[in-house]
Amino acid sequence: MTPLRLAFGAATDAGPVRETNEDAHVAAPPLFAVADGMGGHDAGDVASRIAVEELARLAGDDRAHRAGGGGLDAEAGTALLDGAFATVRRRIAELEAGRRAAGDGEFTAGTTASVALGLAGRGGPRWLVANVGDSRTYRLHRGGLDQVTVDHSLVQELVDAGSISPEEAAAHPARHVITRALGAGSEGAADYFLLPMVGGERLLLCSDGVSGPLGAAGIEELLRAGGGPRAAADALVQAALAAGGRDNATALVVDVVGLAHDMSHDSVAERGSPEEKLGALP
Ligand code: MG
Repeated sequence: MTPLRLAFGAATDAGPVRETNEDAHVAAPPLFAVADGMGGHDAGDVASRIAVEELARLAGDDRAHRAGGGGLDAEAGTALLDGAFATVRRRIAELEAGRRAAGDGEFTAGTTASVALGLAGRGGPRWLVANVGDSRTYRLHRGGLDQVTVDHSLVQELVDAGSISPEEAAAHPARHVITRALGAGSEGAADYFLLPMVGGERLLLCSDGVSGPLGAAGIEELLRAGGGPRAAADALVQAALAAGGRDNATALVVDVVGLAHDMSHDSVAERGSPEEKLGALP
């Protein structure tokens, strides 16, 4: 049983042109994840489902309770996520080998993943965020919207090198090319981010079908617009499609409703409702 009090809601849509929705997501508190699959012949949706299936197992993992006296600490959380990512890679490799042996010589499958795992062990309540590829995690708090993850993508490398601006990246013809994945021949490791967990904050995990069409300003506006996490997730997906998005679009919104009083964390910022703290009451 986690001492973290979290509320969450998700929305997903295949979008106007794709036959299948290759995005997948899971909300298994304290574990939340979005995955965006790729590959022809139904490979993408299989790969992204493998990813969320393996990540969801962590929510019930006994090691979560042995580590840190009732909750995961950062080291144990990272080890669990690393293990899950390795299992995802192995299962996708087996899938590829099987399909190739059956005559589909070109078969490849892969997926991105963005994960937020709530930690309640040593070190107090925190988020351990991880990503592979260009699915993102954002954090909305009193100070504004932060993009927590950094994309593993060609255009991010061009931005980092100073060759293009973030605005140019959003419209770049190669904006969908990712440089790390789970599967698809990639061995690129996940990046990890450790954040304090603050009562009243709101996380967004999303596929590029949401972040691409909306951008940070559009995302922040909708996350602040009031309403619960499910309403916010719906609004984000519908706005991404209304803005011309053609990709599968998935949004998973998580609110930190409160932190249990027995946690070693007692800031004034935790008192009061999440709406109050975000200034989002309609
Ligand atoms: Mg996508």
